[in-house]
Amino acid sequence: MQAFELLRPTTPEAASRALGDGALLKAGGIDVLGRLKERVDEPDRVVSLVDLGADHASIARDGDKVRIGAAATLSRIAASDVVPASLREATAQAASRQIRNLATLGGNLCQHTRCGYYRLRSFPCLKRGDDACPVLADGAVQETAGIFANRPCACAHPSSLAPALGTADAVLHVVGVKGTREIAFADLWAAPSRGRASDTTLAPTDVISHVVLDARDAAAGWRVAHEEIRQKAAFDWPLVTCAVALRADAGKVVEASVWLGAVAPTPMRSAAAEAALVGKPFDEAVAAKAGEAAVEGATPLSGNRYKVQLVEVAVRRALVKAWGRA
Ligand SMILES: Cc1cc2nc3c(=O)[nH]c(=O)nc-3n(C[C@H](O)[C@H](O)[C@H](O)COP(=O)(O)OP(=O)(O)OC[C@H]3O[C@@H](n4cnc5c(N)ncnc54)[C@H](O)[C@@H]3O)c2cc1C
Ligand code: SF4
Repeated sequence: MQAFELLRPTTPEAASRALGDGALLKAGGIDVLGRLKERVDEPDRVVSLVDLGADHASIARDGDKVRIGAAATLSRIAASDVVPASLREATAQAASRQIRNLATLGGNLCQHTRCGYYRLRSFPCLKRGDDACPVLADGAVQETAGIFANRPCACAHPSSLAPALGTADAVLHVVGVKGTREIAFADLWAAPSRGRASDTTLAPTDVISHVVLDARDAAAGWRVAHEEIRQKAAFDWPLVTCAVALRADAGKVVEASVWLGAVAPTPMRSAAAEAALVGKPFDEAVAAKAGEAAVEGATPLSGNRYKVQLVEVAVRRALVKAWGRA
């Protein structure tokens, strides 16, 4: 690891001012320390959020909204009774207990891709500035790669929490050098391009201070769920995740939100799955049709065709689980 100066500001504003000129922001450090040790990042300065006050880690309900500080750990989110059940489920299964005790909401959303080629500097990688993506070549390790929007980069977005936040219409509150601003969840994500390691639209000096989301609770008619399929129960990332939010009237779906994770370079909303649900009386057959719709337009690689079926299954299971929560 390259030696660096460590800065510990006490407010997001001061953190933003300390960033720039290649400085790297660190929250829980689960992703950042890996990148430093792997020399994927070699900054001269690391700006740690460890000294931000308790407000930046708080979780509170306010009317039909929930506010979560970006420094809230995954363990606290998983144990919260005010966040949507889908977010609780997604968070409780992420990583491992030890990691959840350190990892934060802001860091989880902004973690870099787990693509093994990105993480190993001896391989070329488009995101690290090379000409092409080696994962797209015949014979490459493609099992965990994306099956949507996988050109020019085939990575799969690693955040388990992102789909549930998408279904809750989350809004990011961001502190930057020009002041504070709000970013709608769908606008947080940037398609991969050459030399761009981050999957977000944030500037290097931006710090997420907190996230506000819809509570999506049963009292307001919502039924929500998260489903994921993973190879290992812990210390690994899921192969496919799906979060759903449904609102029903007289047995018919009147509103639906379906988000997928780990299938494309960014979290992905499935408009096709939502269209297959809205206006229909819900049953398992409709859920299965929505799963089939969710994989329309998929472009799997020769090494990850199996993920198409995983998406169908995850979507169907999430919908059936959510519907059963009436
Ligand atoms: C073995 C293992 C298994 C894992 N399994 C899963 C899994 O199943 N699901 C899952 O979702 N994740 C998984 N992870 C990833 C882990 O959850 C993330 O690395 C962690 O959530 C990152 O949070 P952090 O606070 O440690 O972020 P850091 O490592 O400190 O930061 C990560 C990135 O976010 C940026 N950042 C941090 N906070 C902010 C902020 N407030 N504003 C703007 N940018 C910010 C940093 O600059 C950095 O680029 C796993 C990790 C390991 C090691
Ligand atoms: S999939 Fe993306 S991150 Fe992985 S090597 Fe290709 S360009 Fe790099």
